Amino acid sequence: MFHTRPSSRSPELPIEWEGYGPHPGDGVERYGILTQYLVQDMPDGYFTSRIVVAVAESGDMFVAGATDDGYYSSLVIGPHGPGGERIEGQLFSRTFDINGVLCQWRRERITDLQPDSVDYFFWECYAAVPVDAPAYPEPMHSPRYRAEMDRRRRVSSNAAKHERRARSEATIERFDPVEVYERDAWICGICEEQVDPQVLHPDAMSPSLDHVVPLSKGGDHTRANSVLAHLICNVRKSAN
Ligand SMILES: [Zn+2]
Repeated sequence: MFHTRPSSRSPELPIEWEGYGPHPGDGVERYGILTQYLVQDMPDGYFTSRIVVAVAESGDMFVAGATDDGYYSSLVIGPHGPGGERIEGQLFSRTFDINGVLCQWRRERITDLQPDSVDYFFWECYAAVPVDAPAYPEPMHSPRYRAEMDRRRRVSSNAAKHERRARSEATIERFDPVEVYERDAWICGICEEQVDPQVLHPDAMSPSLDHVVPLSKGGDHTRANSVLAHLICNVRKSAN
């Protein structure tokens, strides 16, 4: 899902401005209903050079104009039946059945992340959704966006936690503990056994960050002073 990629025509500007996208091959899953996207070149003299076709599992389609890059333009052509026939006079009121679920078209917004993993942006698409889907739906986030937000949360909560415990003169580096765990190849720095990434805190065998020189003894909260340790190994070391 959500494979939207930068414009091939302006690779120096890998931005999809709000309201543009998706690209061919993208898929959007909404409340268990899948929509996929095609981009179709139109013949010369047609009133738009390209169209984006959203295709539901039932074969129902929603057609909108696109720019030469394949992004949506402001032109909305509207719903088409599974046979390609245009449905006149219905834009978002058209309903159709997908696996026993009554669906309609809706303009949906997705928060995604730029390839630089720093800036985020929105793109929009026409997607098939159940008619009883919430009017103000939960926002859709691309996997890339979600992973980055999780990482940022870990970085800031980790730094804040250790900042409170460290001596005032200690160095506090902001980093994702997972970075250190991966550097240490998921081997506990204390018992030298494997640490299972799937085991979650507060399980005794969950991964934790051990400070080689403890913060209480003036150690720094830095990558260099940190190793991966089982939570239980870490606790035992602190107790001694
Ligand atoms: Zn261990």
